[in-house]
Amino acid sequence: MTSPMTWLGPLISSVPEIDDDGWRSLERLADDLGALCAVGAAASTDADVRSRWLLGLRRELAARGHRAPAGLPGLLWQTLAQFIAGFHDLDLRDATGLGHGAMIIAEGGAGAVTHWRARLTAGELVGIAATERHGGSRIQEITTRATMRRDGTWRLDGEKCWVSRLVEAAGFVVFFRDPDGRISAAVVDTGAPGLEREVIEPFGLGGWSWGVLRLHGVHIDPASDLVGGIGEGRDVFRRHFVRFRPLVTATALGTAAGAHTLVTEALAAKVRIGMLPRVRDNALLVLGRAYAEITAAVLAAIAASRLATAGHPHADFAARVGKAAGVDTAFRAVADLAPLFGAAGFQRTHPIAKARADLTGLLYADGIHDSLYRSGGVSLLAEPDASLAPVRPDAAGPDGFDMAA
Ligand SMILES: Cc1cc2nc3c(=O)[nH]c(=O)nc-3n(C[C@H](O)[C@H](O)[C@H](O)COP(=O)(O)OP(=O)(O)OC[C@H]3O[C@@H](n4cnc5c(N)ncnc54)[C@H](O)[C@@H]3O)c2cc1C
Repeated sequence: MTSPMTWLGPLISSVPEIDDDGWRSLERLADDLGALCAVGAAASTDADVRSRWLLGLRRELAARGHRAPAGLPGLLWQTLAQFIAGFHDLDLRDATGLGHGAMIIAEGGAGAVTHWRARLTAGELVGIAATERHGGSRIQEITTRATMRRDGTWRLDGEKCWVSRLVEAAGFVVFFRDPDGRISAAVVDTGAPGLEREVIEPFGLGGWSWGVLRLHGVHIDPASDLVGGIGEGRDVFRRHFVRFRPLVTATALGTAAGAHTLVTEALAAKVRIGMLPRVRDNALLVLGRAYAEITAAVLAAIAASRLATAGHPHADFAARVGKAAGVDTAFRAVADLAPLFGAAGFQRTHPIAKARADLTGLLYADGIHDSLYRSGGVSLLAEPDASLAPVRPDAAGPDGFDMAA
């Protein structure tokens, strides 16, 4: 099968921050993922087997040293690594990288940073618990609450829903109201007493478990467990998603590129063996248009990551509308490509059918699209002449993506 590097190769000059060593490490990642995904358990339809395999894969890749370089190129490397992972399967979106653990590394206290950096480097996983029943698009209305204990520590009570990595995560960054009613965030170790999980079967993105997380008197110490300062929860959330949304977008586009490659190779093979006399124009049109749209959206995701790294004023806007537009592009591309594969691609376990279902989940997860576009529109009205401050690929920014221990 064509490698994801076939898609990324023509973009090398568009990412000058990544040097030859960086590109070689991405090639190694693509090779290792290709080999590791070829084993039997990778394709298991048993949810527990699959989830264990995914976590094992993450640990294995961590042990082999597949991680973003320190400093400026880090977030760009991770953006491309996400494309490579998505190319194989959207379930591999946590194959490498800090994931939601990036919030702890960027905004946690010194002890928490040291503790969680070591665990993340070993391949453990951190989830995010923000959404509640009243609606994930309205984080300002969350009701999960911390109350003060006599010793000055806090107890957390509440319920979070639609939480991904529910069983696999070693920790969650939980958003809640602190004793003064302000929104704060803290890291909760999943070994802590008082956590209850209810797994729900999703329509797609079934690799990692998903569902409800209930917190019954979970103990947190504001002196060590807070992520960001007291009352800074919404800023922590916003700053994280400025970096995280381009990664999600790149993963989705990788999945679309994988589907594109499958369809292209299947059509070429059918012509080669005489099953088809030639490839019809409608199919050629879809292949050409989808390729151009996927590539353009990957470049936009790279640009959004670059803005995030530089702490550019436009970065939040680019991440929000870029996630919605990029995932929409991936979703549409796979929907257009699927018929070219025929009914074989409609089997539940077929990668094309799986990609379609998985991408549906990303229309909600990490920002539901109408809300993202709408808030983008609000930003455009508020700042019609968005900053023209240039971002040079070699300009150091305040917001590096440092995975190095
Ligand atoms: C696969 C998957 C994984 C997820 N993983 C996580 C996770 O790990 N952690 C986590 O915390 N959450 C997670 N989520 C939840 C996700 O972040 C939310 O689905 C998303 O934020 C939208 O929230 P909601 O689904 O509650 O929809 P809502 O916020 O209820 O929005 C539903 C619709 O109502 C609209 N709406 C909002 N306000 C109004 C209004 N005043 N008038 C009219 N319409 C309005 C919205 O724009 C939207 O169209 C996940 C979801 C999915 C599907």
